[in-house]
Amino acid sequence: MILPIYIEPNPILRSPVTPVTEFGDALAKLTTEMRETMHNADGIGLAAPQIGQSINLFIAEFDSQDADPDDKIPFTVFINPEITWRSPQKTIFDEACLSIPGVMGPVKRPKKIVIRYQDLSGVKREKSLEGLAARVAQHEFDHLKGVLFTDYVPEERRSYRKAPEYPRI
Ligand SMILES: [Zn+2]
Repeated sequence: MILPIYIEPNPILRSPVTPVTEFGDALAKLTTEMRETMHNADGIGLAAPQIGQSINLFIAEFDSQDADPDDKIPFTVFINPEITWRSPQKTIFDEACLSIPGVMGPVKRPKKIVIRYQDLSGVKREKSLEGLAARVAQHEFDHLKGVLFTDYVPEERRSYRKAPEYPRI
């Protein structure tokens, strides 16, 4: 089922999240619906607050065939994530967000990160990410702290494009 995506300035995008403690069928179903919602909107990451749930998880997936292998991220559910290392080296890249349709802007972020999280079974895992995968994970992690990418991008540095159509609330 495709869920509506909450759009700025909905206060849920700024609300604190609560930790995930139940690793059952309901959580699996929710993340499956989030994946369908993300694909429908041509996104590569989606955090729970963006579908109206103030819980501590996000998903990411970028598996395009012609992508650089470093950029790729297989479908992953990051539950109760924590970024435990950030590289001193940073990169700048134009970001966009399904909750801020049509807006783009350059954001400087660490090039590589290490992220710890739990999977759908509650098992603790760790991943080293770089390239686009590291960027998506940091953008989505920010959502769980109530931070939007536009917080880093003053008006005069933003650019605009036509956003894809998808259900919004
Ligand atoms: Zn976003």
